[in-house]
Formats: sequence, C-alpha cells, structure tokens
Amino acid sequence: MAIKIILADSAGVCFGVENAVSTAEKELFKDNKVYSYGPLIHNPQSIEKLEENGLEVINKIENKNGKIIIRAHGITVEEESSLGETDSELIDMTCPIVKRLQFAIKALTEDGYHVIIVGDKDHPEIIGAKSYGKNNISIIKSVNEIDDLIKRFNKIGVVAQTTIPVENFWSVVDKLKTINKLDLKVIDTLCDDIHNKQVEAKEIAKDVDVMIVIGGRNSSNTKEIAKLCKKVNPLTYQVETYDQLKQLEIDFKNKTIGISAGASTPPWIIKEAIDKLMMVN
Ligand code: SF4
Repeated sequence: MAIKIILADSAGVCFGVENAVSTAEKELFKDNKVYSYGPLIHNPQSIEKLEENGLEVINKIENKNGKIIIRAHGITVEEESSLGETDSELIDMTCPIVKRLQFAIKALTEDGYHVIIVGDKDHPEIIGAKSYGKNNISIIKSVNEIDDLIKRFNKIGVVAQTTIPVENFWSVVDKLKTINKLDLKVIDTLCDDIHNKQVEAKEIAKDVDVMIVIGGRNSSNTKEIAKLCKKVNPLTYQVETYDQLKQLEIDFKNKTIGISAGASTPPWIIKEAIDKLMMVN
C-alpha cells in the first residue's frame, strides 16, 4: 500500500494573512520602499520571501522614506500614534477580527467594565489589544485564574484572544455566569477560521497514523492546532518545512498521514511537503 495523505480543507492562510501578504507584495511590485513594523505575519519562510523582494522588517519607530505596514495581529495605540507622527505613509493591515477585539476592549472599559482577556499576555496581538483598554484589564489563560477577579470586581466584560480554543473562552464565561449579581458582558472575539482549523485537524488526527501540522514555530495558532492533535494522536509533529520533517526520520511507508497548517502557512510550503511525501514510496 502506498502512503495516503489526508489534507485538511481548512489548512493554511486565512483571509487576514492573505490580505497583509498580498498588500505587501503589491506595494513592493510598485517599486515602493516598504517596511513592516514587526514581522508582518508569523511565518519565517513567507517573511524571507518578502524580504528577498525588498520588504524590510523594522522593530523600532523611526522616520522612513516609504510605506510602513502594520502587521495582521496589530500593534498598540501608542505605537500607532508614534508611527503616525513620522513622515511615512501607514498601511494598516490589522486583521478586521483583531480590530473587533481591540474595539471590544475599548468599548467595555469605556463603559466601566473590568475586562478579562482570555489569552496569552505575551502574544503581540494581546499586547496590542490591551492598550485599547488602558489599565482596567486582566489577562488570564484559563478558568482556574478567575476566583480572585470575581471577588474584586462586580462589573466584568470578557473577550478572547482570537486564536485560542473555544473551550478555553467558554469555560471562563460559563463560570462567570454562575456568579450572583455580577454585571457580565460577553463579547465573542474568537476567529472562526482558527476554530475550523482546530476542529478539522483534531478529527483527522484521530484517524491517521501520523499527523503533521505545518507552520511557524512562532505561530501560536499553529502550536495550538498541534497541541490539540497531539492529545488525540501522540504521533503529531509540528514543522515549518518538509526539510524539517525529513530530519525527524519518520518511517512514512504504508502510512496514512494527516496534514494541517496554521493560518500563516503559505500554500507553496504545504504543496512542497505533500509533493515530497508522495515520493517517499
Ligand atoms: S487567524 Fe483569524 S484573526 Fe488571525 S489574522 Fe487570520 S483571520 Fe485574522
């Protein structure tokens, strides 16, 4: 039996990443000097390609003669206003779903709610989004961290990092709903694209011999997909490219292989991995 590959329909780039990358490509094609403030997306191979075509990733705010793209997962209010004071033209490619999170935090804090963000305090999306709410914010990873907050606040708004598993968010909401006399406002800021990827990848992982999740090591949504798959299939591996997969020296012969990929993984990386895997037998 030859190897069999099951590729998730939802694998690979989402519309937010696609918009950011294609905008950068169009600007570079027009021969503009183009910068991105921080990595445009969380995929080193895509960034490398864009850099080969002239994109420059900058990490501090300075006057640049050209266009500066704001990355898909957003930046802080302060950074955006400092960038606006430079002579550069700003192109805001913050994903609309991340924008929705930023505006939800702003609206809730303006209405006097203490905002709980369920997510990772060190992720750039959350560092950017929390700046919309000034100080009235707590960031938690799971439901286990809310007891203290319930004691301290009687008006709570809750939102989620766009890419976390839905269960993490709704378990927090469910617990908050059990609290008497709590003024609770819930705004679902989860990204459907990521949810579909997580559900589909997990289903595939259950049925295959080996599960491969392709995406940047710095991509939290890729890591999350791999983590969910590993729970149901211990033979789950996260790699950035086929070359990294090859280094793992897995025996793929006669195996059924599932493949999914994070929201920043470009189609050419997925295709290369499949083409090369098909040559294993
Ligand atoms: S994963 Fe979702 S929230 Fe993040 S950039 Fe893509 S569409 Fe936007």
